[in-house]
Amino acid sequence: MVKAAVLYEQKNSLIIEDLDLDDPKAGEVLVKVGAAGICRSDRHYMHGDAPTALPIVLGHEGAGTVEAVGPGVTSVRPGQQVILSFVSSCGRCKSCITGNSQLCDAHAAAGAFMFDGTTRLHKGDTRVHHFGKTALFAEHTVVPEAAVVPIESNIGMDVAALIGCCVPTGVGAVTASANVQPGSTVAVIGCGGVGLNVVMGAALVNASKIIAVDISEAQLEFALKFGATHTVNASDKDPVAQVRELTDGKGADYTFEVFGSADTTKAAYDMAGKKGVVTIVGIAPVGAEAGINAVDMVRNEKTMRGTYYGSTHASVDMPKLVDMYLAGKLNLDDLVVRHYSLDQINEAYGDMDKGEIGRGVIMYG
Ligand SMILES: [Zn+2]
Ligand SMILES: [Zn+2]
Repeated sequence: MVKAAVLYEQKNSLIIEDLDLDDPKAGEVLVKVGAAGICRSDRHYMHGDAPTALPIVLGHEGAGTVEAVGPGVTSVRPGQQVILSFVSSCGRCKSCITGNSQLCDAHAAAGAFMFDGTTRLHKGDTRVHHFGKTALFAEHTVVPEAAVVPIESNIGMDVAALIGCCVPTGVGAVTASANVQPGSTVAVIGCGGVGLNVVMGAALVNASKIIAVDISEAQLEFALKFGATHTVNASDKDPVAQVRELTDGKGADYTFEVFGSADTTKAAYDMAGKKGVVTIVGIAPVGAEAGINAVDMVRNEKTMRGTYYGSTHASVDMPKLVDMYLAGKLNLDDLVVRHYSLDQINEAYGDMDKGEIGRGVIMYG
């Protein structure tokens, strides 16, 4: 039995209860969860912004300790600290073999099931789905071997958890996707956990101006701690005009949309200058469409693209991010602002909805 937070119905609270968890099968790993981040992606499913299989255990940003391994598992052993990847890349599909493991076709096709099409979580006879094949809002979880990335130097579980989602997504958007050049100007719309990592990534590659855009003054002030050089409060005045003003009327060289809406996608596009690179990181509600000025795209040679998981490769990039944190290059200690128990998870999401600064993390005993 494991204690878990279960989503039975969208637009309802998570229910904390005991579930049955099967032993790991071949190629699977049992993880004692150490910490799980309160990320907006899970919230979208709770709010009904996107369809999902139900009932489901959400939670896709986390870290833990390997407790047992199923037959054939070779990359980890019991006792190792691991960061969870919410994409279990198969290594064999077209996406994987062309260097895009974050888009693994087999992982996507299996959805909220394990690769054999079944679940390890049950409530009596009812199967319970595994979001991202990680299901980290539970004390223990069984995941595919590809979902665990062992780390050599033990670090705090809260910080390790962040390296499972918001850090690679944000830093990777800058370094692996947009490839921001030193000295360039950057605007970041949305200063939650992922947005602050975009800001940190831009600082890491020596952008000259890093303009944080948000509607919360508290979040903007917080962004200054992570390398933002300027702030724009989008609730005061047109954020596009403000970003243009801060970039000598030119528009930013790189813009990042990290909120997930049609309006902010359009704003990210409009804020970019000539040859501007517009990177969409946030996931908008299903069906959202953003109107883009098609002539402007050609005349100003803008580039617009999406990035998923920061276009990073979990098994290669997460250990690098751990090393960058240990070298003092990523301020993840200040990013974790609140700790909660699993019993407090609905409160934790309420705090995120209220616009509380920084990241909240569920800590398991
Ligand atoms: Zn996330
Ligand atoms: Zn694959």
